[in-house]
Amino acid sequence: MHNKNILISGAGIAGPALAYWLNRYGFTTTVVERARALREGGQAVDFRGEAHLTVLRRMGILEEVHAMRTAMGDQVVVNAEGRKVASLPSGFMSGDVEIHRGDLSRIIHDRTKDGTEYVFGDWITSITESADGVHVTFAHGEPRDFDLVLGADGLHSGVRALVFGDESRFLHELGYYVAGISVPNHLDLDRTGLIYNEPNRGVLLASDRDRSVASAAFFFASPRLSYDRHDVDQQKKLVSDAFAHVGWETRRLLSHLPDATDFYFDSIAQIRMDRFTKGRVALVGDAGYGATLGGLGTGLAIVSAHVFAGELALANGDHRVAFPRYVEAITDYARGCQKVAGNAGPFLAPATRAKIWQRNQTYRMLSSRPLAGFFNKLSTKAANGITLRNYPG
Ligand SMILES: Cc1cc2nc3c(=O)[nH]c(=O)nc-3n(C[C@H](O)[C@H](O)[C@H](O)COP(=O)(O)OP(=O)(O)OC[C@H]3O[C@@H](n4cnc5c(N)ncnc54)[C@H](O)[C@@H]3O)c2cc1C
Repeated sequence: MHNKNILISGAGIAGPALAYWLNRYGFTTTVVERARALREGGQAVDFRGEAHLTVLRRMGILEEVHAMRTAMGDQVVVNAEGRKVASLPSGFMSGDVEIHRGDLSRIIHDRTKDGTEYVFGDWITSITESADGVHVTFAHGEPRDFDLVLGADGLHSGVRALVFGDESRFLHELGYYVAGISVPNHLDLDRTGLIYNEPNRGVLLASDRDRSVASAAFFFASPRLSYDRHDVDQQKKLVSDAFAHVGWETRRLLSHLPDATDFYFDSIAQIRMDRFTKGRVALVGDAGYGATLGGLGTGLAIVSAHVFAGELALANGDHRVAFPRYVEAITDYARGCQKVAGNAGPFLAPATRAKIWQRNQTYRMLSSRPLAGFFNKLSTKAANGITLRNYPG
């Protein structure tokens, strides 16, 4: 076997999934994660269609994912007084199986922690490639040599910046931002979500398995914001300013922002690259073709990690054979998923009262069974847009 010793940057979803498959094929894996511990925040993420479910099954985690599923019911659009305006059937938002992102990350991490060296609180500062390997330096740890380096470090990938160029060349912002925190379930929601809108703003409050907590998500349209991605207080302030005059329960939800420990904030953006491998370095998941919200990003990360590791195993570790096959298998699939994501912002935070009304009419149509089935099929089509090879077991 060539290239046995592999460094993965990022312990989100794609990173641990890569570690899982690579360990299974006999590679040695090290994962370096910038955060001090596994980042457990984030909203619920869903899997839909046979490709996603097949990979979860092949990983042996489908049952566990099912056991931890949110089992969300319908979501309800409310007006400022909290009265129902329209509702959205669960399958539309929640796919075939929906799970909290943090629970998923924990499940895959637990499956890999004995066979993988996880290094938290550190990150790569340079990558120098030679004919027979890669020399890597870290912000804190000693320099080390590896055979391959994989960037699974998300939308703002450090590996991408070091090897492929500045983020601004690849990151396309779609004009919306998303934030999320956990809050007390003060409305006693039971496996349901409430959605409230004002022009260019959307607030989603949902509670599922654990009725003592709810997750609050804030979506807003905005010209490009400039902020420090590592300054959480600054980001919290951006969110509270953006929602300062929004009605319904918003003020109460915002009051939990200062103490929130699982705050998530990002732009709704996509990574578009012609090639996401170079020499001995490859990008997997959001780092290479991120679609954020509504872009089936978690399913894409899971499927791509499987395809990447499978191709490397089939090529007996030879990256010169495996990388082009990985790129060929994933490029069109990822583009299809990204296309679906383009509409997420306007759907969650319509620009005007008329557009909110129109969106609610669409929700009403989706509540009729035949139409819901039709639209579900459309969204599942992109998720299924890949034929998975029978990689070694
Ligand atoms: C805390 C969190 C919450 C999220 N919540 C949502 C959500 O609510 N809705 C949504 O649509 N998507 C959310 N996402 C994004 C979603 O998880 C991804 O789109 C998808 O699951 C693909 O996963 P990924 O592993 O490619 O990227 P990610 O899940 O983003 O994982 C990337 C990992 O790399 C780490 N990292 C970043 N830079 C470096 C570096 N330089 N060196 C080492 N490690 C680095 C990050 O800390 C993170 O753990 C969230 C991501 C995170 C990290």
